[in-house]
Amino acid sequence: MNTSSNPDALSVIPHSRPTLGKEEIQCAAEVIESGHLAQGEKVREFESAFTQRLGINAAAAVSSGTAALHLTLLGMGIGAGDEVIMPSFVCSALLNAVHYTSATPVVADIQPHTCNLDPVDVKKRITARTRAIIVPHLFGLPADLEALCKLNVPIIEDCAQAVGGTYKNRPVGIFGQAAIFSFYATKVMTTGEGGMIVSGSKGLIDRVKDLREYDNCDEYKIRYNYKMTDIQAAIGLSQLEQLEAFIRHRRTIAEQYYREFKSTGFQLPPRDAGHIYFRFVIESATDAAAGIQKAAAKKITCTLPVHKPLHRLLKLEGYPHTEQVWRQSISVPIYPSLTEKERARVVDAVVHLAERRNGAQ
Ligand SMILES: *Cc1c(COP(=O)(O)O)cnc(C)c1O
Repeated sequence: MNTSSNPDALSVIPHSRPTLGKEEIQCAAEVIESGHLAQGEKVREFESAFTQRLGINAAAAVSSGTAALHLTLLGMGIGAGDEVIMPSFVCSALLNAVHYTSATPVVADIQPHTCNLDPVDVKKRITARTRAIIVPHLFGLPADLEALCKLNVPIIEDCAQAVGGTYKNRPVGIFGQAAIFSFYATKVMTTGEGGMIVSGSKGLIDRVKDLREYDNCDEYKIRYNYKMTDIQAAIGLSQLEQLEAFIRHRRTIAEQYYREFKSTGFQLPPRDAGHIYFRFVIESATDAAAGIQKAAAKKITCTLPVHKPLHRLLKLEGYPHTEQVWRQSISVPIYPSLTEKERARVVDAVVHLAERRNGAQ
């Protein structure tokens, strides 16, 4: 049977898929056999592997990227009455973390092509109460850190989608007061759930470590249970060793997409040497939802890269770039375990989308 002419015989290509194998199984099994599951030696090893990789002073592993953001804000002393700026075009985890601290989130617009924070719009929203700017490197593309750092407000880099990426040849995560990472199942490297905070300030990381666990403390204050387990850390260490290979693989697929999608008329992601292509987001001149449906008919799972922008969740108006990008962006499957055959099917579906669209004009 010729499967290419019989789409019913093809399996669905998921939007994302973790790369896990024998190494991770082995590492997790060793921890289970050791009988020490809770935060311990493996977590410390994972933290020190991270600080070494980034060449930064200190790191604290936690249970998620959201927990990492929450503790970073608390560690910086941010709370009620303070304002924290973030882009609208991002997941609601940022909004939650700021709300957990009782600070006020202030939402800014993005640059239309990079999908990252627009420093000009951020500047307009700075007040005497602004205590931090959360700067995601969305889809793996580094944000304009130089312009954002010039605003003289403490920066928290959100590297949840950009671990291993670089800005001007230096690793993202070292440019602000602190940076956070996420190791959720669909991220570039995973521990199932998990997160990390890094900072040049050992004092900040000490405060974060004090807040992430409640036991063995002499003086009471509200603390959290945001610890990572040694099982997660062991998997994380294994994933970290493969990170360069993961990124190489993503960049190879991205190059193929740039070639194959050139004639489609879709706007393709900005090219940047530091981009790790956590997502490959194409922009059509029309509605994204229709394109996503058509791809689904070919058993290719494309998605909106951001479910709903924050300004819409908060019922705010006046975010023209976020609005436009949100309506028109389609995130196409890209991950190291995407096979040649699957890539060919993705390319075929995207080219088909473009033909339908151009034909309809
Ligand atoms: C995933 C993600 C987070 C939250 O991380 P979790 O581990 O899911 O809590 C925060 N910021 C960005 C940009 C993300 O992509």
